[in-house]
Amino acid sequence: MQILEKAPAKINLSLNVLYKREDGFHEVEMVMTTVDLADRIELNLDVSGQLSVESENRFVPNDERNLAYRAAKLLKDRYDVKEGVRIHIEKNIPVAAGLAGGSSDAAAVLRGLNQLWNLGISVDELAELGAEIGSDVSFCVYGGTALAKGRGEKIEALPAPPPCWVVLAKPTLGVSTQTVYQRLNVEKAHHPNTAGMVQALKQQDFHEICRHVGNTLEGVTLGLHEEVGQIKEHMHQAGADAVLMSGSGPTVFSLVDNSAKAQRIFNSLKGFCDEVYMVRMLGYQETT
Ligand code: ATP
Repeated sequence: MQILEKAPAKINLSLNVLYKREDGFHEVEMVMTTVDLADRIELNLDVSGQLSVESENRFVPNDERNLAYRAAKLLKDRYDVKEGVRIHIEKNIPVAAGLAGGSSDAAAVLRGLNQLWNLGISVDELAELGAEIGSDVSFCVYGGTALAKGRGEKIEALPAPPPCWVVLAKPTLGVSTQTVYQRLNVEKAHHPNTAGMVQALKQQDFHEICRHVGNTLEGVTLGLHEEVGQIKEHMHQAGADAVLMSGSGPTVFSLVDNSAKAQRIFNSLKGFCDEVYMVRMLGYQETT
């Protein structure tokens, strides 16, 4: 028996870090939405009870360090499942990019194994389990557009943004989320207006969405890697309506309301950067 799941990337339309908590995590407010750039997850029942994961991408671990594997292990142990699974990941989302690729794979495995192993777990429970794997996994279980609070695991659904294009560009470097948080000075950093972004989404106002994009972590990564600033500059000059780094970076995205302009930005970045994508927002919840 086989289940196929799509694991879409997310972008942060807004990411505000409020303060560092006593447990070491940062309290955040993030407005996230899924985009049509996705890994494909294939789950094959293994009646011997074993768990395994494989991907052709050399940056993705083929063992228990893989977040997809950890999702399977968590479900198997928690629900005392006798069967196993062979997980295959077709990796299309750039790795260590600020696009939550690993988290989305883990979420897709939770959704897919719920079916494959016939567990009957609710989506809310799956999201709670996801939080044990990583801060972005809960959001990825639901997909769509949401406000995430706490360390990212408290999810409130939001309306999908109005249809638009997203051009993503990732410089060759990878960024460690941990390093970025370690270097963050919360008092001095920029703090985006989360309420303004939420309001803009509720009003379906593309111009206001563009006006409210912001990311507390962007200044840190810009200071570490000048390529990120160069990509931002390129996108602005090519006419993007909004430009922002996603998550802890280094991927930068543009929001654009028409395809000709999006194509122009895509073309201008292509000669400058290896990994460039022009995609649509998904926006709505994608759970099959
Ligand atoms: P986030 O936006 O949630 O911070 P990210 O996009 O920056 O995530 P990932 O692509 O999820 O980062 O990968 C971060 C690290 O996690 C990688 O360097 C990789 O070694 C490890 N990893 C574990 N499982 C996976 C997976 N299924 N896909 C990609 N990376 C994985």
